[in-house]
Amino acid sequence: MSPYDIDRAYASPNSGHRPPGSVVDHLVLHYTGMRSEEGARDWLCDPRSQVSSHYIVFEDGRVFQLVDESRRAWHAGRSFWRGVTDLNSRSIGIEIANPGHEFGYRPFPDRQIEAVIGLCRSIFARHFIPPHQVVAHSDVAPDRKEDPGELFPWEWCAAFGIGLWVPPAPFDHAPALGLGDSGEKVLELQRLLAGIGFDIAPNGAFNEWTETVVRAFQRHWRPAHVDGRADPSTLDTMARVADVFAASAGA
Ligand SMILES: [Zn+2]
Repeated sequence: MSPYDIDRAYASPNSGHRPPGSVVDHLVLHYTGMRSEEGARDWLCDPRSQVSSHYIVFEDGRVFQLVDESRRAWHAGRSFWRGVTDLNSRSIGIEIANPGHEFGYRPFPDRQIEAVIGLCRSIFARHFIPPHQVVAHSDVAPDRKEDPGELFPWEWCAAFGIGLWVPPAPFDHAPALGLGDSGEKVLELQRLLAGIGFDIAPNGAFNEWTETVVRAFQRHWRPAHVDGRADPSTLDTMARVADVFAASAGA
């Protein structure tokens, strides 16, 4: 089977109607976070799980469609991005097979990513999904989720219009803003994160939620070092990510 053929032999009962008038204009990328990819596919189709996704992509590049794109699949859960809550109603969800942080997180094989890119491009031909609305599950649920994680090749995907990317500034162990800090610099950091789309209300206090959101930012855009501390490399990268988001959203 070529990477771009889609197997529809497995269907998930875990879906509902999209709300009337809703448009599909977001894409949420996940990893499965289970020991086996067949086990993950079966779980997404098991009525007891109450979870699903439109697609699952195996490590060998095989793509299975589990839920029709017209239906609301159950992959994002409680979520927020750029003011939108309930991402499930407005998104396509793709599960990318990987054991994840719990069971042996490992690099995504090239043939799997090639299949993800081909799938995303076919989705974009059916739905208008701007690059600032292509998100990681960890972006939209930073306190609950880590997927698809810091090994996911966002730069490669962005070269095909899947999400936004800037080259991250190198991590260099410089002094950082962190838990307990407060003031104008923290406020500016929080404003950048909110401008990108994260669920954060700027208040100038580097609290645990701020640390959680900084960690989510790093996992996606400064993956070399994910610690929730706003070091100069993180801040520099964040300012440039905020700029490309503003340009994309304003276009
Ligand atoms: Zn997920």
